[in-house]
Amino acid sequence: MNETKSTCPYCGVGCGVVIEHDGQQITGVRGDPDHPANFGRLCTKGTNLHLTATPVVIQHQRLRQPQRRAERGAQPEVISWREANREIAEKLLAIRAEHGPESIGVYISGQLLTEDYHAFNKLARAVIGTPHIDSNSRLCMSSAVVGYKQSLGADAPPCSYEDIELADCILVSGANPAWAHPILFRRLEVARAAKPSHKLIVIDPRRTETAELADLHLQIRPGTDVALCHGLLHAIIARGWTADDFIAQSTEGFDTLKALVADWPPARAAEVCGVTAADIWQAAEWFATSPSSLSLYCQGLNQSSSGTAKNTALINLHLASGQIGKPGAGPFSLTGQPNAMGGRESGGMATLLPGHRDPGKAEDWAEIEALWGLDQNSGLPGKRGHTAVEMFEAAARGEIKALWIACTNPAQSMPDQATVRQALARCELVILQEAFAHTATARYADYLLPAATWGEKEGTVTNSERRISRVRAAVPAAAESRADWQIVRDIAALIDAGLGRAPRIAAATAEDLWLEHRDATRGRDLDITGLSWARLETDGPQQWPYVSGPTARLYTDGRFATTDGRARFITRPYQATAEAASPERPFALTTGRMRDQWHGMSRTGSVPRLFAHEGRPLVRINPGDAASHQLAEGALVLVQSSRGQVVLPLKLDANVAPAGADIAMHWGDEFIGAQLGVNAVTQGAFCPDSKQPELKFSAVAIEPA
Ligand code: SF4
Repeated sequence: MNETKSTCPYCGVGCGVVIEHDGQQITGVRGDPDHPANFGRLCTKGTNLHLTATPVVIQHQRLRQPQRRAERGAQPEVISWREANREIAEKLLAIRAEHGPESIGVYISGQLLTEDYHAFNKLARAVIGTPHIDSNSRLCMSSAVVGYKQSLGADAPPCSYEDIELADCILVSGANPAWAHPILFRRLEVARAAKPSHKLIVIDPRRTETAELADLHLQIRPGTDVALCHGLLHAIIARGWTADDFIAQSTEGFDTLKALVADWPPARAAEVCGVTAADIWQAAEWFATSPSSLSLYCQGLNQSSSGTAKNTALINLHLASGQIGKPGAGPFSLTGQPNAMGGRESGGMATLLPGHRDPGKAEDWAEIEALWGLDQNSGLPGKRGHTAVEMFEAAARGEIKALWIACTNPAQSMPDQATVRQALARCELVILQEAFAHTATARYADYLLPAATWGEKEGTVTNSERRISRVRAAVPAAAESRADWQIVRDIAALIDAGLGRAPRIAAATAEDLWLEHRDATRGRDLDITGLSWARLETDGPQQWPYVSGPTARLYTDGRFATTDGRARFITRPYQATAEAASPERPFALTTGRMRDQWHGMSRTGSVPRLFAHEGRPLVRINPGDAASHQLAEGALVLVQSSRGQVVLPLKLDANVAPAGADIAMHWGDEFIGAQLGVNAVTQGAFCPDSKQPELKFSAVAIEPA
């Protein structure tokens, strides 16, 4: 038996795995005892990874050869790579010539490796010349990105996983790590057991497994997080728990924020949030007066029409109480996908350029032109592009004519599915680059390009704590599938040839692409110019910035990444959700994870045992609401928003707050009959700063079906 070290392809914890194989087939997997993210542990999803790579799965679930549809709705026919590449390049060139480069959009994924991201970024911006490249990370972490940038000056989570063990108080807000980041939750459990004085505060509208462990659960109304943070800050100021020297020396804007939160005594915040004032006072005391306080947060703060305001309101608490830049303290966003961080670093998003540069700045484009060896008339788009929701809305309007989609399933995962399906149907050309054959998006694809996946690819990923790990191939790519970056490079070369120029993506290996990416970080907040694949080989996974060595914790000297070195208190009023519950639609629907499933289940859905924990789609409501709405456990109910509807069995669950409703995010149309999946009802309204849609709140009616 052979063994190859790599990482788990699911969540942003970024656990190390040891892949067991015979050189041709993966036979087993176990946790890598040497990886600092997990020290050998794996959660249920990780433990069963090898079962997503069996010969049966490869035969029946994987996309194995390039395919082309003669027309929409027809069965795709197998074609050669040569035909596929040539035809796709010709069609993209024709659309570009007729409608301009901005008629083409590229929609990629936080599942891709950093090297794939880099190749796609060059494809969109340097080869096609479109600004419209975005990632499904837009649905995941973009509010955290903008929150960090506005408050601390850079998109850099300041903490390390070891801070979970070092913290005296942990505030979990809008996250359920017990299910979504299980290995970190295990670390949290162990840390609490070892420190009897430890305090755990959980802010969540649902009583989750994480909330079960808490000393204090603030079960707020959905969307009221900013009001709660303002109430907490009011209490911290009122009791004199502020870090006055730190505020004076290292921050700006406290007086403005202080004036705002003066109007938010805990009694008022309690009324808005649906909790008690006493609990707000208690949470404020534990957070501000503990020797070290860490906050862990995820989609409850991010997937919101006020996502950036929620993030900055939480960071305000850290700045006001000096809970940052020291062991066990700081705001720590838990990344959803395995390489959302790498995508941010390589700038493969509409609002980012490589090395955390800004596509809104001409000087940053000039630096990218120089880094990519292009002259000043290179045709780079020079501006920000459409973000995820905007891109599909533009396609639905007919402005985007061609979509190249990779490693993601927007016909399931995007909100407001009616608009997304309209967009896909209206496009002249849909290219889908995927490892799995049967996703909802595949039905709309004119070309299907088989991509290599976990266990078959070389590259790197960055996890939530800024740690870069090598991803390694254990076995050859299945059937005719190829690495994502290779697919991109080969078609890009044909487009460049059609435009009469030399290839702009000339990499021969994934490492070549990584070296280009590394150069783009020089002198930036994420500088990794001291790192190499050889060092990752000898020293293992490393945290950035890495110039002469790794960096475990940021801002320890009280200097932040802003131009003047001072962090910013961000003053934002509390705003209600984009749509409100009403007598016609009285339930506040949130979507979230099941413990053992991942995203659209294209991978986890191939493992029967992962359905043992929960095996069918359900809508959950509080038992107290069932009687008043004449709804019965197990009955089929119609869940209806202003955008669409689904019919599901009803489950009564006391862990759901009154007037709340909950559906797991994973269920697509193949699981919910002929319907559009759970995202038929969710909304595309997004945060004006981060452009992240409000998947955590949709006003719905629930009636007997
Ligand atoms: Fe994979 Fe995340 Fe589970 Fe670790 S915690 S094994 S990275 S799914």
